[in-house]
Amino acid sequence: MVTSFIGIGSNLGDRARYITVAIRQLKTLPITRVSKISRIIETLPQEGPAQGKFLNCVVQIETELFPYQLLQALQKIEASLDRVRTVKNAPRTIDLDILLYADISMHEEALCIPHPRILRRAFVLGPLKEIAPDVVNRLLGAGGKWNNLKRKKAIVKKVSMRQRKTKNNRQRS
Ligand code: AMP
Repeated sequence: MVTSFIGIGSNLGDRARYITVAIRQLKTLPITRVSKISRIIETLPQEGPAQGKFLNCVVQIETELFPYQLLQALQKIEASLDRVRTVKNAPRTIDLDILLYADISMHEEALCIPHPRILRRAFVLGPLKEIAPDVVNRLLGAGGKWNNLKRKKAIVKKVSMRQRKTKNNRQRS
């Protein structure tokens, strides 16, 4: 089993429902266990054409799927949740990204790990820091430069989904 972190985002349709169902589907993946779920935050879009705000969260999984198997599984979940690919960075019902996979570093067009924009995205680093502070400190360098990250402002508000997170964390700890 290796630990991997999945970034989840939605800014189209019933955003909270898409995220909830995506997490439910992550829980049904073979040889995979969801171990932590961050709270969901609302964030301003950072890229692409003018579009609505996102809901974002990060999920920690333990998995025996290989990276490309995991990517394929995530893309299947996206397809099942009405994800239609149009232009780059267009609004999306659901977006699932592999942020980290163990300590793997790979740079292929179809799969780049760590996710290339992880350090620039407060909507990733915030939730990731909540469930894996050591990982974020390691990524940013010791000393918690997170506090100085200007893009932290991109987070609009914390959406309360604590029941699920608390329950989940309690089960796993
Ligand atoms: P997106 O529009 O964010 O869903 O981008 C999806 C594309 O990025 C797919 O073609 C993937 O093959 C590619 N990709 C590269 N690295 C990653 C990653 N770490 N996680 C998810 N997709 C990735």
